[in-house]
Amino acid sequence: MEECDICGRKAGNLYLVEIEGAQMVACAECSKGAKIIDQLRTTEQVQQARRPEKQAEESTIVENYGKIIRDARESLGIPIKVLAEKLNETESDLKRVESQHTLPRDKLAKKLEKELGIKLIVKEDAKTSQRAYGKADQVTLGDAAVFKDKKQGV
Ligand SMILES: [Zn+2]
Repeated sequence: MEECDICGRKAGNLYLVEIEGAQMVACAECSKGAKIIDQLRTTEQVQQARRPEKQAEESTIVENYGKIIRDARESLGIPIKVLAEKLNETESDLKRVESQHTLPRDKLAKKLEKELGIKLIVKEDAKTSQRAYGKADQVTLGDAAVFKDKKQGV
């Protein structure tokens, strides 16, 4: 059984609902009053319903991406022109990204991450902790305890 995104309870009947423009997986109770997009009958459907939203909405580019890109590129000694050719991008596009005039598209950000060995895309945090409400602390403490036990056991 999968958990409801809203109340966190495991439920047999889950629905893909839209609440304030965001798609969530909700139990029958929490779906009341929300716009129901689909009924999710299997775990697979629930996971599929969750996946696209995570990628579309929860990936954000780090604040100082331009500096990170330029520093990494310079420390590797790659001229911007060469990097642009490698990534199949135009030099002026890359320049705009490095000077933070434009945000890199997800695809470009991923290419840069791979090529330069840097991290540009940050995921989840804000949204996940919002969703978890008071549960977040419990989960963290529980995880920490498990980790500690394992470490001591070995
Ligand atoms: Zn619920």
